[in-house]
Amino acid sequence: MFKPIFLATSLVLLNAQAMANNVILIIGDGMDDQQISIARNYLQGAQGQLVLDKMPVRGSVKVITVDEDNPSKKVYVADSANSASSIATGVNTSRGRISSTAKTNQHPVTIMELAKAKGLATGVVSTASVTDATPAAFISHSKHRGCEGPEQMEPGKLFYGMYKLDCDSDGRANGGKGSIAEQIVMGSTDVVLGGGLKHFDQESDYDSEHLLTKARVNGFSVLQDAQDLENIEGDRLLGLFSPSTMPVIWQGTKGAKAEKINGDLKAFSCEPNLGFNGMPTLQTMTEKALNTLARNDDGFILMVESASIDKQSHYRNPCGHIGELKQLDETVQFVLDFAKSHPDTLVLVTADHGHAAQIVPAGSLFGGQSTSLGRVALVDTPEGSQMAINYATSEGQAEEHTGVNVPIFGNDVAEGLVPSNLEQTDIFSIMKGYLDL
Ligand SMILES: [Zn+2]
Repeated sequence: MFKPIFLATSLVLLNAQAMANNVILIIGDGMDDQQISIARNYLQGAQGQLVLDKMPVRGSVKVITVDEDNPSKKVYVADSANSASSIATGVNTSRGRISSTAKTNQHPVTIMELAKAKGLATGVVSTASVTDATPAAFISHSKHRGCEGPEQMEPGKLFYGMYKLDCDSDGRANGGKGSIAEQIVMGSTDVVLGGGLKHFDQESDYDSEHLLTKARVNGFSVLQDAQDLENIEGDRLLGLFSPSTMPVIWQGTKGAKAEKINGDLKAFSCEPNLGFNGMPTLQTMTEKALNTLARNDDGFILMVESASIDKQSHYRNPCGHIGELKQLDETVQFVLDFAKSHPDTLVLVTADHGHAAQIVPAGSLFGGQSTSLGRVALVDTPEGSQMAINYATSEGQAEEHTGVNVPIFGNDVAEGLVPSNLEQTDIFSIMKGYLDL
């Protein structure tokens, strides 16, 4: 006699869930096919499959960047700011801009703003600072990605010591929206989890109120470590688990990275990075975000960024980006399982731009040793071979991005929604259409 009652209850629950559509967008920063192949070779073996590889929908995405002074002119290599802005707003822009238009400095509406206006819950999760370019493009508008916190709003501040930022024109005293951190604490995003505490542990440049006080006044519970993440509940969560970018899970043996070829290269493998101890994983943060957002009957949209595929590739640290892609892949599995129990959930996984790392022959195809002029890492893989990874886009401190197409993957809900060849602005339209915004 109990069985029919149980079934009836399940049907009611299913009907309630079927009413609202959800979107989970996962962005691997810098996660081109080179990065995916490097991670697959190490984590699953050359013939193995990442979770990504098993997703039923797959397309190729063109990354479009425009010139700041002449927006009709194309630029062939993006940064995370303009590419995330394309996905978040459906409008292409110039490098460094956060959901603001090249030259004209307009603020096109973001997918998060559209979702909030329709009553959906919204969230972002990142292993970078939550004020970093990718999350920032979804939850703020700024002339420049460097305007992360009150400190940067002062005239004449430098971006990574390279050039002068122009943030004060976006300052609240000048009628602007303020720093990215201030926009987050005063904004409507429900769940914001990642790194970047240093940009919030400051007083506002406008009214001198501490940003974490502003956050609490605006209804956020502020979380600062893995225990808080586990124990503190709330409809609005601001989790800041490290001062800036969160530490990565892996490093090369004793910190080994790619180096200039000078005699024989010493092979290494990957080991845990002790600096990660005590940090929540990307999957744990995503789980908390989903549990919180899914309470909203009208559905939700969540953007999850695995940031350090990019950052560790800039640093020529293969184990750093392999470990970060491992975090992404585990998170994708968790999200796909969530989508199975919440059937109207569109899951998309993509990247913002290509990156420097490429797999090259461990010994030259033409005989003898590789003679790359860049830096090379020789990585011992668990399946018993050696993978040579080359970084050769810069002689400077950091490697550059590259201008290749990036992949997009989708779950079964994405079937018929994602064409095989698209542009990043189309991802905005797909999400907007699916959520009926
Ligand atoms: Zn980058």
